Amino acid sequence: MSTTGNLGRQAPDGHHWVWRPTVYAEPLHAWEVLTADDLGRECRYGTRPGNRGCGEQAVARLNLAGDNQWPVWAHYCEQHLFTRRIIDGVLHTCVLEPIQAGEAA
Ligand SMILES: [Zn+2]
Repeated sequence: MSTTGNLGRQAPDGHHWVWRPTVYAEPLHAWEVLTADDLGRECRYGTRPGNRGCGEQAVARLNLAGDNQWPVWAHYCEQHLFTRRIIDGVLHTCVLEPIQAGEAA
């Protein structure tokens, strides 16, 4: 699919970068695509004391809380998903996979 991936890293010989649905074993640092109820929030990227977020409409949220805690959501826009991408409403991560026989690089 891609030889350099979304981080600009060259895939080693016999491998390529492929977008796959993001799967989490733990709720900590899990991302969710926003539902219609959550739309309208602004991206917090760049938020620091005295600074503001980027101001774009958020499309996904990240759970900053650990186990056994209420979720603490941080909202981010499409430009600030930290190497993730939403494809057909599902969060995807670019992963390195071996190229199978007969598959295009
Ligand atoms: Zn943003």
